[in-house]
Amino acid sequence: MAKSSVLGYPRIGAEREWKKALEAFWSGKLEESELHGRLREIRLNHLMKQKQRNIDWIAVNDFSYYDHMLDHAAMFGLIPDRFAYEGGPVPLSVYYGIARGTRDAVASEMTKWFNTNYHYIVPELQGIEPALTENKPLQAYREAKEKLGIEGKPVIVGPLTFLKLSKGYDRSETDAWLERLIPLYVRILQELEQEGVRWVQIDEPILVTKVSDVDVNRLKAIYGTFAASAPKLNIMLQTYFESVERYGDIVALPVQGIGLDFVHGLGGNLSAIKALGFPQDKVLGAGVIDGRGIWKAPLRDKIGLLEELANQVSDDRLIVQTSCSLIHVPVTASRESDLPAELRNALAFADEKLDELALLTKAISLGAAEVADEVVKLEIGRLEFERSDERARVDVRQAVEALRGSRPERGAPFPERRLVQQEKWRLPLFPTTTIGSFPQTDEVRKARRLWRNGEWDDTRYAGFIRGQIDTWIGLQEEIGLDVLVHGEFERTDMVEFFGEKLAGFAFTGHGWVQSYGSRCVKPPIIYGDVAFRGPMTVEETAYAQSRTNRPVKGMLTGPITIMNWSFVRDDLPREQIAYQLAYALRQEVEALERAGIGMIQVDEPAVREGLPLKEEAHGEYLDWAVKAFRIATCTVRDSTQIHTHMCYCEFHDMIDSIKAMDADVISIEASRSHGELIHSFETNTYQLGIGLGVYDIHSPRVPRAEEMTGMIERALRVLDPQLFWINPDCGLKTRGKEETVVSLRNMVSAARIARSQYGAQTGTSTK
Ligand code: GLN
Ligand code: ZN
Repeated sequence: MAKSSVLGYPRIGAEREWKKALEAFWSGKLEESELHGRLREIRLNHLMKQKQRNIDWIAVNDFSYYDHMLDHAAMFGLIPDRFAYEGGPVPLSVYYGIARGTRDAVASEMTKWFNTNYHYIVPELQGIEPALTENKPLQAYREAKEKLGIEGKPVIVGPLTFLKLSKGYDRSETDAWLERLIPLYVRILQELEQEGVRWVQIDEPILVTKVSDVDVNRLKAIYGTFAASAPKLNIMLQTYFESVERYGDIVALPVQGIGLDFVHGLGGNLSAIKALGFPQDKVLGAGVIDGRGIWKAPLRDKIGLLEELANQVSDDRLIVQTSCSLIHVPVTASRESDLPAELRNALAFADEKLDELALLTKAISLGAAEVADEVVKLEIGRLEFERSDERARVDVRQAVEALRGSRPERGAPFPERRLVQQEKWRLPLFPTTTIGSFPQTDEVRKARRLWRNGEWDDTRYAGFIRGQIDTWIGLQEEIGLDVLVHGEFERTDMVEFFGEKLAGFAFTGHGWVQSYGSRCVKPPIIYGDVAFRGPMTVEETAYAQSRTNRPVKGMLTGPITIMNWSFVRDDLPREQIAYQLAYALRQEVEALERAGIGMIQVDEPAVREGLPLKEEAHGEYLDWAVKAFRIATCTVRDSTQIHTHMCYCEFHDMIDSIKAMDADVISIEASRSHGELIHSFETNTYQLGIGLGVYDIHSPRVPRAEEMTGMIERALRVLDPQLFWINPDCGLKTRGKEETVVSLRNMVSAARIARSQYGAQTGTSTK
């Protein structure tokens, strides 16, 4: 008989109770004992749900008070010195200090968990001698057993993944660090074995990235030690997010089970298993239910896939699993009563996936014929939805098909456009501008709330927004900026704003997922073909332009960013969805141009985070990402200046793709990358307009003009002064009004200083 298994369940609760409890505790509204109580309740409730839905292997220790990597660091006593920790169980104050910073110590860095939008705390190993502070997996196992009679499957992050995601040590010390950590892992495993635990899940997602010969030897040593130390304990070595590297070596490791992702790594894993077979002494964890998508599974296809796998592994050695932990999807679709029924019935969040797992397990154990009726019942929502008109719009499909085969290009190459644009705009050397948003003050948020809940009508709200635009156009002129923006006061979020105006998007009421500590996001759903319905930004932009003689830059979010920050349909390649978005945005770009807007910025901060995990797939992704940007922007006149903006990460290894976007001007975050970006221009000439952010907008500190002049000087050692722009790192919406105005004044002063220095050298007007 096959078994069902869940790799991890969302922590946040259907009402985000988890987040609320954490934040109440942080603000002093909840006692520590109350926090423990509330979190226990959430945890047990989640376990119970899985039990009721007949999941055979339920993960324990997947729960966390913040993040699972932080839990492991705390369990191993890996607490950076600055938190004044003195050994023993890690107090909550220290635990949350690492996560959020304290008065005396900055927080540890958070970064993206592989290619997901979940962020983990990066463990810092510098100068610390690890020691086991508690056996958290064991506690979780006991709790589930004692309280609910559940025979849980403890989940642990494997040593190789843990180490590779940590920092504060030289890579040449990897083996020394393994030697320190392995005994701690061994103790955990031995205690689990003594307790009578049957299976543990050891997560090694790092195995889907690059695995060297040295790593293979490390794995042999690690898992050999585990097998020898806890011989009665069964280990499921779990991978996810892509196909496993070095399949032959991995499946030969001395563990009892291998977990593979047959959704996001389907091609690679399936061909490996077919070519090399699967060892007869192991169980296969077949991750067939998408742990990252929100759609009901095509169950008959999944049964077909499981039957194919059953040719390699007898069904008593087949575990039907989610492809990864369910922390990447919302809790339940059952509460989305505001969505059209057709769409709602096609959704499977975590809870609905439990039902799918149970049913697939039954199908493979008893035979598909036995469960045919149930399959139809569960799958019907998806099937009906697939036939809906909005899923395939002829106009969009035809347009995108034509674009797919085309080479989107501006009318003239950049050097020619540049002359036309110079003639038209007559900007000074080192033009100054901002990235788009101005402070979203309480006043702005309040106005939006009043409008959303109907207390303000559209006219009143529009009048308010105009007032904000007036204020800030005035301020920008007075500050002396050269290229102005309207300020984005009408937008809450750069993706949601466009999603609400385009066809093909839906918004859930409760579809939250954990993203950054207690911060959750509610991504839009792209469920149908994306289509332009009418101008989205023209009104505010044209209004702003009517209030000034200086150019106002239109402001759009790019196709790749919209896609990467949404849940997307799973029946179309992402490439095609990107082109649909690009085609819709092209119509907005054209509408802006028609309305007299001559500079248009298309933001793409999320391009880099969409990079596939496998390096060999980067090129293809970047090619179509660049193409999508060009589709959106290429039809404008030579004199219309296309801008783009990127931030949040380092771009020095993708300069070629950035060039290929062919934007007339890019503004890019640079003040925090410690000169690395600048450095990359030494070897990589950049011959389009470019503004490297001259100050960090993440801090309320007002930078002095001289600091910015320093940044400018450094940049001009490698960039052409004639192409250089001066701007902050990113949008200013999280900043206060006063500090923003002063910072921008200083920035304009810095530009004037730079003009007086370089203008003399280059003989350009210095206005
Ligand atoms: N135009 C956007 C803003 O200024 C860009 C935001 C971003 O880069 N994330 O807010
Ligand atoms: Zn930005």
